[in-house]
Order: sequence, then C-alpha cells, then structure tokens
Amino acid sequence: MVRALDVAVPTRVCDACAGAELVAFSDLGEVPVECGRHWAAESEAVASPVGRVVLGCCPECGYVRNLAFDESLVDPSAPTDMNLYHSPTFRAFSSELVAQLVAELAERLPLAGRRVLEIGCAQGEFLRELCRVGGCTGVGYDPSYAGPAGPDPSGAELRRAPAPPPGELPPFDLLVSRFVLEHVADPAGFLAGLREAAGEHALGHLQVPDAEYDLATAGWEVIYPHVSYLGAAALCRLAARAGWSVDRTGPVFSGLIRRLDLAASPGSRADAGVPEPELRAARDRLLAAVAGFDQRHHAERRRWRETIGRLADEGARPVLWGTGSRGVQLLNYADPNRRLAATVDVNPAKWGRHLPVTGHRVDRPNRLRGSGTRAVIITNPVYRDEIAASLAGLGVSAEILVA
Ligand SMILES: [Zn+2]
Repeated sequence: MVRALDVAVPTRVCDACAGAELVAFSDLGEVPVECGRHWAAESEAVASPVGRVVLGCCPECGYVRNLAFDESLVDPSAPTDMNLYHSPTFRAFSSELVAQLVAELAERLPLAGRRVLEIGCAQGEFLRELCRVGGCTGVGYDPSYAGPAGPDPSGAELRRAPAPPPGELPPFDLLVSRFVLEHVADPAGFLAGLREAAGEHALGHLQVPDAEYDLATAGWEVIYPHVSYLGAAALCRLAARAGWSVDRTGPVFSGLIRRLDLAASPGSRADAGVPEPELRAARDRLLAAVAGFDQRHHAERRRWRETIGRLADEGARPVLWGTGSRGVQLLNYADPNRRLAATVDVNPAKWGRHLPVTGHRVDRPNRLRGSGTRAVIITNPVYRDEIAASLAGLGVSAEILVA
C-alpha cells in the first residue's frame, strides 16, 4: 500500500493507463536540472538551475512520474554529455543487444534493405552498428549529436536535430528509441504520434531505465530530466493505449534497463504479448518498491553523507568514480560540502570541468595514481569489475564501495 504524502502538487491522471490519479509518495526536494552537463567555470556550474522532484505513483499500473516537473526549466537544445559508450562494459552490452535484435528480427522482419528510424540516437553508436550488422539503412535524430552530418558508410544518416513531428518523419520499418520516453512530458502522445507515422508492418524497439531497479534502490537515477519511471506494467499499458501491440518486454543490462518490443499491428507470433498475471506481478513488485522508497532514499542520503565525512576524517581520501547522472545525484545529496578528495571519470570531455550545483571538478582516473586514496565510491554496480581493473592498473589499492 502506497501512503500518500501531504504535499501541494497538481493532481494528475495516470499517463500510462488513464485509470487512476497519481498518488504522491516521495519528496526529494530540489535537484540539479542539468545533470548531464559540465562547465569550464566552477561559478557557472554552481549557478546552474535546480528543480523540485515529488514522485507520484499510479495504484493501477505502477506508473511513476515527477508531479512537480516543470517543462520550462528544461532546455532541449542544451548540450548534455550522457554518453555511456566510453565504458567498455556498456559498449559490450550494446553490441550484444544489436546482434541479438538482428537475430530475433531475422524471421519476422529481416533487416537487410529495410529502413530504421531512431529517435534520440545520441552519437549514433547503436544505429551505426545496427545498420552494419543488419544490412539496413537508418535515419537518426538527436539535438546533441555532434558528429559529421550526412550519410555515413554504415548506412546510417545522423541528424543533429530533434525528430520532426510524426507527420514529417521519413518512412520506417523499425522504430528504435532508447532513453527518450522517460524524458517526454507527454509519453502517451509521443507513442501515439509514432504509431500514426508507422506503417502497418512496422516494429518498434524501445529502451528505458527500468523503474523496478530505480525505485527499489537508493534512487540515484531519479533525476530531473526523467519525467516518468516505467516498469513492465506501465510500459505495456502506455504502449497499448497509444495503439501499439506489445510483443515482449524484459530486463537487460543487469536489470538496469528495460526493453520494450512493439508491433504496429498484432502479428501471427503465438508467443507475442505479455500475459496479464505477469503484468500484475510486475505492478505489485513496483508498488512494493514504491512503498519503501521515501524512507530508503532519505536513509541512503544520510548514510552516504556520514560515510564520506567519516572516510575524509580518517584520511582515506575518498573518491567518486563515475560522474554520470547517478554520480551527480549522489554528490548533490551526499557531498554538498565537497569532502571527497576527487571525482574522476573515464570520459575525456569531462576532464577539468565542473559538475552542476555542487561544482565538483572532474579529473582523469590517472590522477589517483600515488594519491593515497583508500576508498572509491561508485554508484553503478555494473561497472565494478571494470573500475577494479582500472584501479589495479593504476596501482591504487582501494576498497570499492557501491552506493
Ligand atoms: Zn496507471
């Protein structure tokens, strides 16, 4: 049972199932709005905007949304650097998923010669590989795409722009959209528009952060740009209400990411669709996570603030490794007074630059060599082995603590 918070936020009917009003269950206060950005000047980083997060949940389908989300605070054209492809672990996951997707589609929609549309292609890594492995062509849109314009040898054409309205999209056989749906203020309208643009035989492949993971843990992935938190039940309801037929959904990348595979029209596959009892069980798991979230989140904040303070007092020179959105959120909650000895990241574009609101400077991991650091905090357990190997390579003997 989700206990309602007594907090003044606008009421809202569930975006996913439209069957109930969302119930506010956790007030996270103000968090950095531009958590994927970094600045050369510390003063600009510190002055970057904050926005409030009050999470609300649908008791019918488990859809979760920031009820205090203010679209006017988010500048869709602002440069962001959420690129995960600097990590070999993420690159390997992405390549495996491309190969798996091409193999799965081999019978139903052989990709050779087909057209893929990707909404939110980032730097085009997934689309290029999909085109190369599947022998298809593709068009990708993303306002943060920073590479060369025009067709590339893989068969992908990447455009530095938001996707045009549904009526102006190029024709496609396969829609791909990764880590976009959770950012959209009107997710039902977004999916309905794409369904309208899709031909009768088009398929879709979406990926979103899995709400079942994000809300069952400390909540470091609850960030301002994420309007929605989607588990299996809410995703399936949302897609169905937007006119898509759901083929399947499942967790990938150690449960941090959820895939959703759609078809414009119901196919002949006997195994298509997600059984109702499975959706109810997924909803119940999510509602159980939601019921404990507020207490767990605030307890974890206090715990990490105390841990960092204690490690700093003991001379362990604690460090945060990884300054993606989770890392930025941990810094905001647990190290506002900058007790950490350093924050490091493998993404060279971040080196020497400052993170939003707290202003921490990001350094290259090499800086830890000979620094006397005895504790390295990470926020994503998936990268543990990769980071442990890097630390060994640098000759740093430190305990890895997973926040
Ligand atoms: Zn709902």
